Amino acid sequence: MIKVKKVTLHLIEQKLLSPFVTGIGKVEKRESILVEVEDTEGVVGWGEVVAFSSPWYTEETIKTCWHMIEDFLVPQIVNEAYDHPQQLQNNFQSIKRNNMAKASIDMAFWDIYSKKQGISLSKAIGGTKNFIDSGVVVSLNSIEKVLSKIEEHIKAGYKRIKIKIKPGQDYKLLQQIRREFPTISLMVDANSAYSLKDTYHLKALDEFHLLMIEQPLAEDDIIDHAKLQKELQTPICLDESITSIDDARQAIELGSCRVMNIKIGRVGGMTEAIQIHNLCQSHQIPVWCGGMLETGISRAHNIALASLPNFTIPGDISASSRYWDRDVIDPEVVVENGRIAVPDGPGIGFNIDWEYIHHLTKQKKVLQ
Ligand code: MG
Repeated sequence: MIKVKKVTLHLIEQKLLSPFVTGIGKVEKRESILVEVEDTEGVVGWGEVVAFSSPWYTEETIKTCWHMIEDFLVPQIVNEAYDHPQQLQNNFQSIKRNNMAKASIDMAFWDIYSKKQGISLSKAIGGTKNFIDSGVVVSLNSIEKVLSKIEEHIKAGYKRIKIKIKPGQDYKLLQQIRREFPTISLMVDANSAYSLKDTYHLKALDEFHLLMIEQPLAEDDIIDHAKLQKELQTPICLDESITSIDDARQAIELGSCRVMNIKIGRVGGMTEAIQIHNLCQSHQIPVWCGGMLETGISRAHNIALASLPNFTIPGDISASSRYWDRDVIDPEVVVENGRIAVPDGPGIGFNIDWEYIHHLTKQKKVLQ
């Protein structure tokens, strides 16, 4: 039984080790809201708001999430009793979208639930792996910088390289990469930077034998992606377009993609993420776990999610040291031989670095 005693929001800010650049946005300083939920028996679970400070990825921001959690979500959950975190989904149904805000509470509930069962989060959600393969993302930069980053990441053992592309920084860049690294497992992410008018241009990328092209078209589109997929040999992977199990079902029915990226925050929580995983599995659509430049708390949830059996493609789950000087969890997430060990301790399986969170905190509020 989970009955909420209080929810504490910790707004933190960290500087990324290097700026992260995509076709539509640049992140140098990363704000996050760490969500600490304590139940009436004193068990504490952690979640994280993975929205960015501005709405370049989806419409949510750190501020909209704070508002949603404080004014709508927490009032909805206090005085309620839950046998299982899945019940939260129904409870939140009357509140439209705001998935990243919802997900932060949902994650904390799953952490509490698995701690109370005395099992790891991975086990609680039906995970089957002890290790997950780790991939890495290279942000937009000059060709020389992208090439040297790829070399660095391959040496570090990452199993899959993803690069960001946009019109004008795609074909030639890929040509150079394939010249230097003809056989690496390579994929691209366009973050919606193209339209159907670019079909002919995107078809040309087929020659690079990419693992997939992620989200070439608009973030709210499923129909045009189906048209484009028919023209491309390269599998399309949807990211921004999939915000719920219904989006996933429609994309599968229309043939809008052959791969899906699942992010806990984007789909409104672990419960929805598991359902999308199961649906994709039943349609032989492989999935992988995307990244949000998150702290170790969200990263720990991602590791558990990626331990489900249909996560057959290495995700964007990298070592803490890929982004941060120091992470907010202890031990930090490490990659060894291209793999991350799935923790087997109760809940998310990492300790919280209180001292460091305190150091990073810009604003804190206890909601009861
Ligand atoms: Mg993406």
